[in-house]
Amino acid sequence: MTNSTTQHVTIIGAGIVGVCSALWLQRDGWAVTLIDTQPPGNGASFGNAGNISPGGVVPYSIPGSLRQVPKWLFDPTGPLSIRPGYLPRLLPWLFGWVRASGKEEALRISSAMHALHADSFGAYAELTRGTEADALLERIGQLYVSEKADGANGSALAQEMRAKAGVRVELLGEDEIRQMEPALAPGFRSGILLPDNGRCRNPHRLVSILAEEAVRAGAELIQGEVKALRIESGRVARLVLVGGAERTLDHLLIAAGAASGKLVRELGRHVPIEAERGYHVTLTDPGVAPRRPVTHRDWGFAAQPMEMGLRLAGTVEFAGLGAEPNWKRADLLLAQAKRMFPGVRTDQVSRWCGNRPSLPDGLPILDRMPGVGNAYLAFGNSHFGMTAGPVMGRAAAALMGRRETGMPMNDFRIDRFRH
Ligand SMILES: Cc1cc2nc3c(=O)[nH]c(=O)nc-3n(C[C@H](O)[C@H](O)[C@H](O)COP(=O)(O)OP(=O)(O)OC[C@H]3O[C@@H](n4cnc5c(N)ncnc54)[C@H](O)[C@@H]3O)c2cc1C
Repeated sequence: MTNSTTQHVTIIGAGIVGVCSALWLQRDGWAVTLIDTQPPGNGASFGNAGNISPGGVVPYSIPGSLRQVPKWLFDPTGPLSIRPGYLPRLLPWLFGWVRASGKEEALRISSAMHALHADSFGAYAELTRGTEADALLERIGQLYVSEKADGANGSALAQEMRAKAGVRVELLGEDEIRQMEPALAPGFRSGILLPDNGRCRNPHRLVSILAEEAVRAGAELIQGEVKALRIESGRVARLVLVGGAERTLDHLLIAAGAASGKLVRELGRHVPIEAERGYHVTLTDPGVAPRRPVTHRDWGFAAQPMEMGLRLAGTVEFAGLGAEPNWKRADLLLAQAKRMFPGVRTDQVSRWCGNRPSLPDGLPILDRMPGVGNAYLAFGNSHFGMTAGPVMGRAAAALMGRRETGMPMNDFRIDRFRH
């Protein structure tokens, strides 16, 4: 029930960021409407690898990562693919990505990632306490393995970033990896264990439960696609749904993942957000079970034991937001699964493709919309949205409540992309 002093916010997007934002805003006394084209948690938040990574402080764009790109691009089985014909449209984003790879820039980005990720489990715990979602989150460590003797620990700069952020790392040799994960094939010569990281055993169910909690606390949940935003006197006054229905707005939060760029354009600005697509295969009867999340460093995908089976998720493909999936990318994951886990059964498989919301520097936008008094932005968590979601939501609520967010907000400003 709202009264005349209650402020109302409409959140576009019921993924992990939108739903967590809803819950934090409700705690601050806001009345909330969540709008999504689909039921909650069916965007990128549906099929990700479920790694919860407080120690996720190494950006994808760092000195040296550019050197790997040509090799990956020319290898059809490599972890990166750009759909032919899409390269010209992607070039500005790629230039931004390269710009972000300078050492100073990468260190700044790393420390912003630390601010966003370090308290992921703590922030989740506040939202999931007393719900079934609590048991889905586990701090059981993450293992990273490589077939190269020096592959798992990353570059000297990556190691420096982890040390600076106080991320605990245990170095492992081939025998220790085998002892830790007997299901793994031999031949992984180096490994690292990040004991303070962990996982979510079912990302979709997590978002669904949190959305149910928001509804229980009074949120209105609307299924529909927002196609237009109407500005009047410097405020976003109304939204228009596909089909023509209109709704008046008190405040607006855009948390629409990879599709947020279209909505920001409605408010008069361009943001260089790309759908950094990834795939998963989930094996519902795999016959093998790693004990914890295992990421294959050389191939860029994670193997995650989940409620519904063993999920292999990862790889990067740029093809544009609405492009048809290329299921061969998912089949590559299946082939990798067979190499990684000898004896794995792959006869019962579901495949999925999802859009990571990615800005060139890998950091999100968490900001007020310049020039539009009642609009706010929270999207772009790229490879780390399941980790950052509850912290993004908490900071979005603080921003909208004009409180200190505890975040390096300059690093998340929309204006960093204005040239
Ligand atoms: C293969 C893969 C593996 C990943 N692994 C991990 C991992 O292990 N750990 C991790 O932390 N992160 C991981 N991620 C990243 C993570 O999944 C995303 O960063 C996160 O889910 C983004 O959440 P979101 O709420 O911003 O977006 P989404 O979950 O995509 O939600 C946005 C919602 O907005 C809705 N929407 C969009 N436009 C409109 C509109 N016009 N009107 C109404 N609704 C709209 C969409 O329907 C969608 O439901 C992975 C991603 C992929 C693809």
